[in-house]
Amino acid sequence: MIRSVYFLLGYCLLSFGSWANTSIESNSSQREDLSKMLMHLTDSLKEDYDLNLLPQVRVLREQSKQLGAKDLQARSLLLEGLIRQHFGDYKHSLVLHNDALNIAKPLNLPTLEVQIYLAMAQLEMDLERFRYAQQLLDQAYFLITKQVAADKAHALMGEYMLWQGSLYLLKGSYRQALVTLNDATLAEYTLLTSKLALARAWAHLSIGEYQKASKLLGSDLVKQSVLKRNLHLRVRYKLTSATAALQAGNFATAIDTAKQALNDTFGTRFLTEQSLLQNILAGAHAQLGDFEQAHLYLKRFALSQQALNLQKRNNKLLQLEAQYSLAAQKQQLSVLEKDNALQAQQLIQHQQQIDNAHLAQQRGVLGLLLIVLVVGFGYWRWHNKRYLITLKQQVAERTEELAERNKRLQALSFTDSLTGLNNRHYFFSVIDAQIKPDASTNSEKQEMIFCLLDIDHFKKVNDTYGHAAGDIVLQTIADILKQCTRESDLVIRWGGEEFLIVMPNMTHNEAIEAVERVRRQVECFPFVVNEQPIQVTCSIGFAPYPLMNGAKSTLSWEQVIELADNGLYMAKKEHRNAWVGLQSLNQPLNSSIKQLNEDYRSLINSGQVIASTSY
Ligand code: GH3
Ligand code: MG
Ligand code: MG
Repeated sequence: MIRSVYFLLGYCLLSFGSWANTSIESNSSQREDLSKMLMHLTDSLKEDYDLNLLPQVRVLREQSKQLGAKDLQARSLLLEGLIRQHFGDYKHSLVLHNDALNIAKPLNLPTLEVQIYLAMAQLEMDLERFRYAQQLLDQAYFLITKQVAADKAHALMGEYMLWQGSLYLLKGSYRQALVTLNDATLAEYTLLTSKLALARAWAHLSIGEYQKASKLLGSDLVKQSVLKRNLHLRVRYKLTSATAALQAGNFATAIDTAKQALNDTFGTRFLTEQSLLQNILAGAHAQLGDFEQAHLYLKRFALSQQALNLQKRNNKLLQLEAQYSLAAQKQQLSVLEKDNALQAQQLIQHQQQIDNAHLAQQRGVLGLLLIVLVVGFGYWRWHNKRYLITLKQQVAERTEELAERNKRLQALSFTDSLTGLNNRHYFFSVIDAQIKPDASTNSEKQEMIFCLLDIDHFKKVNDTYGHAAGDIVLQTIADILKQCTRESDLVIRWGGEEFLIVMPNMTHNEAIEAVERVRRQVECFPFVVNEQPIQVTCSIGFAPYPLMNGAKSTLSWEQVIELADNGLYMAKKEHRNAWVGLQSLNQPLNSSIKQLNEDYRSLINSGQVIASTSY
């Protein structure tokens, strides 16, 4: 009834809290409400553990979480853990205690931490894992003595001693248990003092000191008011009393008390107490000789023991399972953390990859630009080169063409169009080179013959047969001259019907033979003009080069030609169809070439000029 009122009160407070949770002020008032609710629930647990309290504890937990009140959250977790532990749900209880501890530790609330450690120690004791229980108790002791404030440390120390004593009892260290429990003198805490007194009585009984136990049970330390409210404590009290009665030999009292307690345990989870009571009943009945009843209770005792063992085994399995799931949870967490770290790393790598890709892209674009530039420049240079080559080729072609043209022009300008012989221009362009001393033979000036030829009475041919006929005669004479001379000789159309023949490497006597041959060839050649045979003759004058001009100097080639012309003149004047070769000059001629023209006979006669003639 009272619990229901609390429940309703708590719920109303919570509803009010969540309805008005908009301001800080309402937050703090809500927190106050939640604290009150927690206090009520904790008080309720002092009377007895009730599964019906769980929904309220849950609500408290959720609200605390929403409000961010971590201490309340941890306390509600501890509360739920204690309730579950009391009802044998060790698996969840362990998880809840652990969660509570994880939240409490960073909050620096040593009182709360001690409470959690003590709850966990109880759990380990229930599971008969005494070593762990001792470790947890040690932790609690350390915190109580070192960190918990003095005003709170006293009560917590009492609690610690109760559980430390209980652990000694469970381990069979009864005297140690007594020492520990005796140390706790906490008259003001009624529930705790009752619990401590009962534990001490049980310790005395465990070593056969039933009088001391009975004395304690009858003392003020065990508060009847507390026993009325707390079923478990009541059962424990009766169990202890029955045991004391049994040890004292008051079997009827023992049976009576044990039966009362046994009735109280029906429908409860106090299986340990039940089996112990059955054992007492079996023992007491046996002492009284009622073996039938003794046998009956012994059988029940055996069954209870079986159930108890099964429960213990199950609990141990469940606890193992819980520990395994806790470990698995932790592992999952670490895997998750690792995974997170990996993902973060991957993210960084991914970002890096993107950055690298950007960089590569930029590089690529730059590279491409560079390539385009290089290729463009290369193409421009190649194009230019090709253009230059083409230009050069064109220039070369043009130059060649021009040279060819020049050559042709020169050839044309050096050639007489009628006869095909070289003309005077040609002669003037080559004569100096011809006259130069041969460097290879290093000889003196080569002896050569300058020879002038003129057709006799050519005017008559023209006049008689026409100009064209004259041309034919000129052409024929040119052919004859070509045939009669050597490859190395120059045959020039000197002008009109006059020809110049230059014959290198030739002596005077050889010249006589050569000119005679020419004269004769012309004379003998069967000229046919206008289908009529005609007689054509020619006259020749020649002179050698070099020719001494007195003892000191020689005549120039121009002077030699003039001399040859003089010879020709002589031949014309005195004979025609003849040749005259003028040779040496004993005296310097000076201006006497002119004189030679006018008065050659006297010069010859005086022996100044030597002349050879064909006549
Ligand atoms: P000579 O025996 O004294 O030399 O008498 P000639 O008639 O030959 O006299 P001359 O040498 O003075 O006459 C040259 C003539 O040659 C004059 C000219 O009409 C003629 N002649 C000059 N050149 C050509 C030509 O290319 N063709 C023709 N058909 N006649 C020419
Ligand atoms: Mg002439
Ligand atoms: Mg003539």
